[in-house]
Amino acid sequence: MFPLFGYYSFLFFFLVLCCFPLPCFPARIIPEQITVITTDTRNATWHNFTRFKDAEKGSHISGMSELKKYFQRFGYLSIPDNQNGNFTDVFDTQFESAVMLYQQKLGLPVTGKLDSGTISAIMSPRCGVSDTGPRIHSTKHFAYFYGRPRWERGSPMTLTYAFSPSNMIDYISLSEIRTVFERAFSRWALVIPVNFAEIEDYESANIKIGFFRGDHGDGEPFDGVLGVLAHAFSPENGRFHLDEAETWAVDLEKVKSKVAVDLESVATHEIGHVLGLAHSSVTEAVMYPSLRPRSRKVDLKLDDVEGVQALYGSNPNFKFSSLLESENSSNKGNVLNCRSSKWTFSLAVVSFFLLLMIT
Ligand SMILES: [Zn+2]
Ligand SMILES: [Zn+2]
Repeated sequence: MFPLFGYYSFLFFFLVLCCFPLPCFPARIIPEQITVITTDTRNATWHNFTRFKDAEKGSHISGMSELKKYFQRFGYLSIPDNQNGNFTDVFDTQFESAVMLYQQKLGLPVTGKLDSGTISAIMSPRCGVSDTGPRIHSTKHFAYFYGRPRWERGSPMTLTYAFSPSNMIDYISLSEIRTVFERAFSRWALVIPVNFAEIEDYESANIKIGFFRGDHGDGEPFDGVLGVLAHAFSPENGRFHLDEAETWAVDLEKVKSKVAVDLESVATHEIGHVLGLAHSSVTEAVMYPSLRPRSRKVDLKLDDVEGVQALYGSNPNFKFSSLLESENSSNKGNVLNCRSSKWTFSLAVVSFFLLLMIT
């Protein structure tokens, strides 16, 4: 009996090993936020926030008031009346609520603690537009600015855009920048009855695009490499500003810098703000507030489309089925992987019981 048992045991383990030759779980489902915090692709100021990792309610860490200012800047926290206009370094109940609101908005596990996933998200390069706050109406996913402002023109409407004659970058040609923006605008124009046309005259354009450095006069100073990448104002303001200090790229394969930022991804996102969309909590959406360096996110997702169409209606030529098809095909890999992992697991279980019966 013993040799027979040994033989089947060997066969069983062989079968199990055959069933799991490769990772069976789709890598994309693992939350990226719990990856190890890296230091070379972070904004210098926000990098300091690593020292608050694992802080929770009751903690007192020197300099935590700086982190509270970050939360204030992006709409999660206001200075309490009883603290003389300053934040303290104490992780109090109010700050815990702000952390929970942030985690909810960024699609993170809501723990109320500064876990590594939360710290990682906080330090990620992002858009300078505030996420939430008392003056922003928010639905489950996509969101609007307070009052749901939109451009008011006849339908179909045409909005004009122009590049600043004096605030541009010189290492990417104007024609390449034009092409990038043309593609970015066309993605939105495909789904709503709005056309975008480039004009020469910056002053009279509806949408004014330029690259600016540091304090540039609108009360929203840029902060150097990474950190805040760009910002745009709600309708019908039209100001569209990119941080000149970033290493902008139109083709990431040709740019080696670790801190390169894809211009088209940021342009597509900021156009969403220009049209009236605020930040979405859907991680895959173009309107999600952060973007990792060297990553590209240019395709509008269902959440982006539903949000903007609720403001402007649908482009008569747009078909939801084509969008759903493209979303399905991008998710197909995951679905197939899940199915195959279920299959291999079932096979292993059946093999196990069969072998038990035989032995
Ligand atoms: Zn934004
Ligand atoms: Zn600005």
